[in-house]
Amino acid sequence: MTDCIFCKIVDSKIPSSKVYEDKDFLAFLDIMPVNKGHVLVIPKKHYVNLFDIPEEVLADLIKIVKKVAGAVKSGVNADGINLMQSNGVPAGQEVMHIHFHIMPRFKEDELKHWPRKKYVDSEMDEYKDLIKKFLE
Ligand code: AMP
Ligand code: ZN
Repeated sequence: MTDCIFCKIVDSKIPSSKVYEDKDFLAFLDIMPVNKGHVLVIPKKHYVNLFDIPEEVLADLIKIVKKVAGAVKSGVNADGINLMQSNGVPAGQEVMHIHFHIMPRFKEDELKHWPRKKYVDSEMDEYKDLIKKFLE
């Protein structure tokens, strides 16, 4: 896609700090890292998000994510790794070319997890059913 920043990175029209590349996938440093060593992994072909990418491509992509996550963990001596992958603007997706964030975490990095909500009364049952009916 011509106006996609990640397609431009794939085509080397804008620079990136690549850590891994093969025929179909690319991994490069996020320019605004949560912690230094934060990497994005993308398919070279443009798919918007989880609901757009074919299962076979996703299956290969997640294998690359695992490989690169191991390299990030070793490379920056991380204590842990968060993966994140956002789908849709309300979910925080800013770049509409599917990408997995690999975020190195450190014992004292003081990053907080999201705040949590509570279910009341029979809500857990209701929400279970709302989702389950699309999986039957
Ligand atoms: P998301 O909010 O999940 O869509 O994440 C998009 C990510 O892309 C953000 O973390 C940005 O910092 C990152 N980003 C945007 N432009 C570039 C770029 N030119 N090179 C590397 N990372 C980028
Ligand atoms: Zn793209």
